[in-house]
Amino acid sequence: MPPPLALTRRSLVWLYRGLAERGMNTGSSGNVSARTRDGMLITPSGCSAETLRPSDLVGMSLDGALHGEGTPSSEWSMHAAIYAAHPQAACIVHTHADACTALACLNLALPGFHYMVTRFGGDDVRCAPYVTFGTPDLARLAVTALQGRTACLLANHGMIVHGRDADDALAGAVLLETLCRQYLLARAAGAVRMLTEEEMQAAQERFKMYGPASNNVPARHA
Ligand SMILES: [Zn+2]
Repeated sequence: MPPPLALTRRSLVWLYRGLAERGMNTGSSGNVSARTRDGMLITPSGCSAETLRPSDLVGMSLDGALHGEGTPSSEWSMHAAIYAAHPQAACIVHTHADACTALACLNLALPGFHYMVTRFGGDDVRCAPYVTFGTPDLARLAVTALQGRTACLLANHGMIVHGRDADDALAGAVLLETLCRQYLLARAAGAVRMLTEEEMQAAQERFKMYGPASNNVPARHA
C-alpha cells in the first residue's frame, strides 16, 4: 500500500534535491515520480531543485488524467507506462547524469564488468534504442529495456532507475552513475575483463545471503 500523499510529496522533493546535490540533474533535465493509490505524483515541467515545494508535485492517473493543478514533466507517459508494466516499481528517477548519458551515447548496455551490476536484477543494464523524448515509443522501449531489471539506459538521452521508495531509487541512481563512470574509465584504460555468468551468479547468491548491500546507500532525510 503506498504511503500517505503528504509523506510521498516530501520524499519526492528530498529525492529531487538529492540528485541535484550530487550533480546528477544538471539543468533540471531530470524528473522523479512515485506511485500513489490512484496513479502517480510527478515533478512539474521546468521545475528546479532550489524552488520545488511538495505542493508543486503533479498528481495524475496512469492514463494521463490530471488530479488538480500543474503541468507534469514531459516524460510523464514514460513514468506511467513503467508503473503499469512493473508492479514492484514504487518510485522512479529519470536523469541525464553524466556517466550514464555518456555510455548511452555510445548506444551500449552497462555489461557485467563488476559484480555490483547484479544489484539491478541481471547480468547487465540494457540500453533502450533512441527515439524522441516524451513519445509513447520511448515509454514502450523503456518498459521493454526494464524487463527483469530496476534500471536501464536510454540511448543518446539518459537513464531510468526504479525502486521500492525514494531512498531505494536514489541509492540505485547513485550506484548506476558510479558503475557507468567506472566502466567508462576502465574502457578508456584498456580491454575490460568481463565477469563470467558463473561469477555474476555467485555474486547474486552472496547478496541473497547478506541482504541489501550497504554500498552507496545515502542517509535518509529526517
Ligand atoms: Zn530526459
